[in-house]
Amino acid sequence: MSYDSNNIFARILRGEIPCDKVFENEHALAFKDIAPQAPVHLLVIPKGAYVDFDDFTLNATEAEIAGYIRTIGVVAREAGVKESGYRILSNLGEEGGQEVPHLHVHIFGGKPLGRMIKPIDK
Ligand code: AMP
Repeated sequence: MSYDSNNIFARILRGEIPCDKVFENEHALAFKDIAPQAPVHLLVIPKGAYVDFDDFTLNATEAEIAGYIRTIGVVAREAGVKESGYRILSNLGEEGGQEVPHLHVHIFGGKPLGRMIKPIDK
C-alpha cells in the first residue's frame, strides 16, 4: 500500500488539524487518542511517512527506528503508567483493524487491561 499523504495523522503532523499533544521530538509526535479506550490512551507516531509497522521496519533508517521506539518509552514514562503497567499495540492492515494508514503505536494504561485479545472459538 502506498502512503496517502492526506491521511489524518499526516495532516496532524503538518499542523493542518489540531491534536492534544503530549510530547514531540525530532522522531515522533505523541497525542491523546480522540476516542480513549482506557484512562490513559495515547498515540505515538513517527514523523516519517510510513503506512504501518511493516513499511517502517522495511524502509526506515536505523536512527528513525531507534528514535521512534525510544520515544514510545519516554511517552509512557512521562504519562506515569510505567509503575502500574501499560500496553502498547499497533494495528496493521485489514485483519489487524488498522483505521489510519500512518504507523501509530497505542499506549493504554491507567486501569487493569485484562487479557490481550479474546480467546479464539474452537
Ligand atoms: P487504529 O484502528 O489502530 O488505526 O486506530 C486509530 C486511532 O486513531 C483510533 O483509536 C482513533 O480513535 C484515533 N483517532 C482518529 N482520529 C484521531 C484524531 N484526529 N486525533 C486523535 N486520535 C484520532
